[in-house]
Amino acid sequence: MQALRWYGAHDLRLEEVPAPQVPRPGNAIVEVAYVGLCGTDLHEYLHGPNMIRIGAHPLTGHVAPPVTMGHEFSGIVVAMDGSASGIEVGARVAVDPCYRCGVCRWCQHGKYHICALGGSVGLAGDGAFAPFVEVPLVQLHRVPDSVELMHAALAEPLAVGLHAARRGAVGPGDNVLVLGAGPIGISALVGALTSGAAAVYVSEPSPARAEHALAFGATAVFDPTAVDVRREVFGLTGRIGPDIVVDATGRPELIDLAVRTTRRGGRVVVTGVSDSTLSVDLRHLVLFERTIYGSLGYNFDIPRALELMATGRVDPQRLITDVRPLRDGRAVLDELAADRGTQLKVLLTPKE
Ligand SMILES: [Zn+2]
Ligand SMILES: [Zn+2]
Repeated sequence: MQALRWYGAHDLRLEEVPAPQVPRPGNAIVEVAYVGLCGTDLHEYLHGPNMIRIGAHPLTGHVAPPVTMGHEFSGIVVAMDGSASGIEVGARVAVDPCYRCGVCRWCQHGKYHICALGGSVGLAGDGAFAPFVEVPLVQLHRVPDSVELMHAALAEPLAVGLHAARRGAVGPGDNVLVLGAGPIGISALVGALTSGAAAVYVSEPSPARAEHALAFGATAVFDPTAVDVRREVFGLTGRIGPDIVVDATGRPELIDLAVRTTRRGGRVVVTGVSDSTLSVDLRHLVLFERTIYGSLGYNFDIPRALELMATGRVDPQRLITDVRPLRDGRAVLDELAADRGTQLKVLLTPKE
């Protein structure tokens, strides 16, 4: 089969590899329907290795590089070794890409996403930029009948935003500010609204992305290059400030602003991963008892994302701005690297 494999920064190769045929114990083989491209993939392509592991992974045994990328995907189970609730050969599935050991302190406390031995499909083991991928059964979620496989591939990025809202303990009546309206910012907006937020404001310079944020229910969107977002939101929240600020920009220089913008006693949730160091004026943190939370991926949020689609509370179609053949993956990443915020989620499919 033809797989798109990461060899190094700017070195992604479409090449022939053997298709997985017989799953190892406890695993399934999934025929990939759709796989999303995200900021993580782009970062690995341009500047990696960042989260791609060099050397053997203790759970997958995979020695990278090269590694077949792709971690946001849906597909159909074509073989399985073992049983899993609600999953059989032929089942339509969305995949939680988090490998987990199941027995470490964090796995035992339900925090498998920060497992001591964890890693992600498509980074620590071969992923879904291929027609077939092998995945542990525990990582499969059945897709509700009313949800298309194209949309099910968005359960993963949507779960990131649901998790960010949960990390920030967004609750009924809260005012929330989301920085950035890319796929994760939009997902955090959805997470805040479905958690009962009274208002969700968004800071986003791209007009196209601002439109998307409004379509997903943002109360107002501000262009940070044109207005003082902190002042605007302060005025709209009774001169208190937002209860929670979610940073979905991946730009560490904005964290200090996020801290100063949140209300006294408020919370800042950071979703982006960056390799640079954060600079925060600690007076703004300590003297007002604000808290900064890191938010990594999701745990148990993917079934929630699928339910939001199945019940019609989220229209995932609005997130998809392009669908391209897998063989174009490298060209698409080059286009995304040059994109100025017109694209949201681009899906690849090995079927074309
Ligand atoms: Zn991703
Ligand atoms: Zn573990």
